Amino acid sequence: MLFDLQPKTRRKDLYDRERELKEFNNALKLNEKLILLLGIRRLGKSSLLNVVLSDSGLPYAKIDVRSLYFTHGSIPQELLAKKILSSLLQSLPPSGKLRLGLANVLTSIRGIHLSGVQVEFEKRPDLAEILEKINSWADKEESRVLLAFDEAQYFRLSGIQYDGLIAYAVDNLPHLTFVLTGSEVGMLHDFLGFDNPKKPLFGRYAREITLERFSREQSLDFLERGFRELGVDIALPELERAVDRLDGIVGWLSMYGYLRGIRKLPEKDALNELFHRAQALVLDELSSLLSHSRRYGLILKAVAMGNTRWGNIKEYLEFKAGRINDAKFSILLKNLVKYGYLDKSADGYFIPDPVVAEVIKKSQLTPG
Ligand code: ADP
Ligand code: MG
Repeated sequence: MLFDLQPKTRRKDLYDRERELKEFNNALKLNEKLILLLGIRRLGKSSLLNVVLSDSGLPYAKIDVRSLYFTHGSIPQELLAKKILSSLLQSLPPSGKLRLGLANVLTSIRGIHLSGVQVEFEKRPDLAEILEKINSWADKEESRVLLAFDEAQYFRLSGIQYDGLIAYAVDNLPHLTFVLTGSEVGMLHDFLGFDNPKKPLFGRYAREITLERFSREQSLDFLERGFRELGVDIALPELERAVDRLDGIVGWLSMYGYLRGIRKLPEKDALNELFHRAQALVLDELSSLLSHSRRYGLILKAVAMGNTRWGNIKEYLEFKAGRINDAKFSILLKNLVKYGYLDKSADGYFIPDPVVAEVIKKSQLTPG
């Protein structure tokens, strides 16, 4: 169903993304080691990830790095190792030859205990060794293993050099492919550091697949198909009004479809409810950023209110929060671009998601 609120898992529930699927499969065919799925929030990265993993027919592990980080406040190696192994085991048919074979290889790791897909360690595991075992198992099975990390930019907050581990694997473990997604594209690039000579992945190549919003035509078609699937008849002018407000951001379009077509709210109420939910979502997503500096909120507010130029945004910020020097201000602005909350064009800065912009415009982002 197109209007399901969960990330999609099946190809048939995924609207379009043909180009991205093709490119992903191309990269796999070429045995590439590092594939990035990039794009702002709610464009369907997790959905695409789910579909490419299950359609690949390959053994895979999938880790939600963001939720790991937020539930533990860090990303301990032991926990990551457990998650990788149990997810990988789970991707293999139960009690099939592959799962038994992998379990066998893993039991040669000192201090590991397996029961079903549950994994325990007596002492802190060596992740590099675990990846080596997975690689040699894949070699023996003449397969490739996909290790997928959703919202991988959160690794950079872990205090552990996971970039070094990925670099080691990319250089030495030919049967592993890492698939990383990131909503905070600039932060993910900072974490990987392909252009940073001080970082372990410096100079490495990655296939970058960037998801874009749907065109107006696609967005209308998406809504039309979704409603048709539900047997609900919605006239074109209404679909156009929805796309005017929500743009081609599939997460909002499918939420609208859900509220209108499944919850059966009238048009106005569906939009109100969508913005109500969006507000809670966006403020939650912004909360850790705002806890670093309330200035981030004021800068976003300035842009949401129509200021596009460096100077105007700074003026607004200084009016609200007092003087700030140019260098400091520029860093805050740049960070907001890296987090994906701002984008920059020839016309200046803007908020790439109109729903987020509207939420920011209406919300009290800063206490006092
Ligand atoms: P992201 O990971 O980029 O934030 P998600 O994959 O979580 O985005 O998708 C956000 C919402 O949009 C979910 O409700 C999901 O079901 C829906 N969605 C995403 N991509 C598609 C698609 N290609 N077709 C249909 N629905 C989609
Ligand atoms: Mg996601």
